[in-house]
Amino acid sequence: AQQIRKGLPKKWPIAGVEHVILVASGKGGVGKSTTAVNLALGIAANEPSKSIGLLDADIYGPSIPRMMNLVGQQPQITQQKLMKPLINFGISCMSMGFLVDEKSPIVWRGLMVMSAIEKLIRQVTWGPLDYLIVDMPPGTGDTQLSISQLIPVSGALIVTTPQDIALLDARKGTEMFRKVDIPVLGIVQNMSVFECPNCHHKTHIFGDDGARNIAKEMNLEVLVNIPLHMSIRETSDMGKPITVSQPQSSQAMAYRDLAECV
Ligand code: ADP
Repeated sequence: AQQIRKGLPKKWPIAGVEHVILVASGKGGVGKSTTAVNLALGIAANEPSKSIGLLDADIYGPSIPRMMNLVGQQPQITQQKLMKPLINFGISCMSMGFLVDEKSPIVWRGLMVMSAIEKLIRQVTWGPLDYLIVDMPPGTGDTQLSISQLIPVSGALIVTTPQDIALLDARKGTEMFRKVDIPVLGIVQNMSVFECPNCHHKTHIFGDDGARNIAKEMNLEVLVNIPLHMSIRETSDMGKPITVSQPQSSQAMAYRDLAECV
């Protein structure tokens, strides 16, 4: 690991990018990408004058192209051989999903992941941006290490469900960011409550407010509770995120509240 670290370039900011915010989770499937997308759009809705980018750092399972309705598109290349981000809903996006065929998965090894991440950071005309939101892969692996070594990061959000196992992984994630000196801004408790569309009864499918306990233990805040709601999944799958397709819904408002926290 020492060897690898020595071989990596020094840390310096991405030209023209003011703040880098990581959206992380201890395990997959807890709603990290959904949160990253709606956070980016939530900031744009709250502050229309700000310019926002979205970097899909999930090399193994990129989901930004689908969620941002950019599937099948490829970036233009500038004369300096840099890639231009693809833009939808006013957000500048870049993802490995634009560069490789999703149907022929690559077997990534550690060093390849690091160089892919470096390309997505350095060979893209990101600036000028007020915020670059980074959708991280789940867990604590090579990507987390590369990003913390390559660029200064303003802060990380940890997405978790209220379930015990997801919380345990969230704790590991928090500890890792603290080790590499990235400030953890707080916890996003996703899928916190399900309201029956017929009788409006509320059910805590993944347990009741588990994030509050871990937050207290780790000296963190639960920044927002996002409900488990069919419309969030449907709009994500359609490539029309809830913050743009149903901006007045309480679900969209929850993401805009989160956007106030970064
Ligand atoms: P991750 O990035 O953590 O792997 P995703 O954001 O891809 O997770 O979400 C996993 C699945 O759960 C997706 O189908 C997504 O639409 C859905 N989902 C995420 N958050 C919610 C929510 N609050 N309510 C309903 N469905 C959700």
